[in-house]
Amino acid sequence: MSDRAGGAEQRPRRLVVLAGPTAVGKGTLSAYVREHFPDVWLSVSATTRAPRPGEQDGIHYHYVDEREFARMERDGELLESAVVHGHHHYGTPRAPVEAALRDQRLALLEIDLQGARQVRASMPDALFVFLAPPSWDELVRRLVGRGTEDEEERARRLETAKVEMAAEREFDVTIVNDDVRRAAEELVSLLRSPLTPASNERPSDRRRSNQQEK
Ligand code: 5GP
Repeated sequence: MSDRAGGAEQRPRRLVVLAGPTAVGKGTLSAYVREHFPDVWLSVSATTRAPRPGEQDGIHYHYVDEREFARMERDGELLESAVVHGHHHYGTPRAPVEAALRDQRLALLEIDLQGARQVRASMPDALFVFLAPPSWDELVRRLVGRGTEDEEERARRLETAKVEMAAEREFDVTIVNDDVRRAAEELVSLLRSPLTPASNERPSDRRRSNQQEK
């Protein structure tokens, strides 16, 4: 594929920041991309939350304690960081992202809304993609169906999700997560498309370009 970034060799070819409400399926989508699209580099976040069953250190997250997380923040090792759902810390290690972009990799960050806003401030060339559920009811159904959180945690996450849903317009593009394979293919096609503003606006029946609404 030709690189239309032209003379701007130093610019990242493509960095996509994916955010969306809790339980919309970002994790499932990332797992699908990891398995089926090995040319895509996925950022591995640091978190202070405990691993869920089946999660592996260094693959799904770097599991660190509060002290280590605070050190990483203090030493400027994180590109962005946030407290998500009221208590746990999450952050994107900066060096691997910069290395991936230097190597012209297709880089994907799956982070929360607060983190996406921070990345926009430091890397405005990135493409910001909002992953939306087919409907609010479907989002609630997925959150309850997952069964990994207790009642209190679920209520907290739903509150966060309401705020996150309202932020859709801040994003360049929306992908509706009605089918994981289709959504992943759409996401990867965005990653592979050249760095032109027009590439954010190709028509799609399920992808909504948010440009006109800004
Ligand atoms: P979970 O604990 O369910 O894996 O993730 C909870 C939330 O944290 C999700 O919305 C996820 O996108 C977000 N998240 C994961 N990694 C990061 C990160 O590095 N930075 C930020 N800001 N949010 C993250």
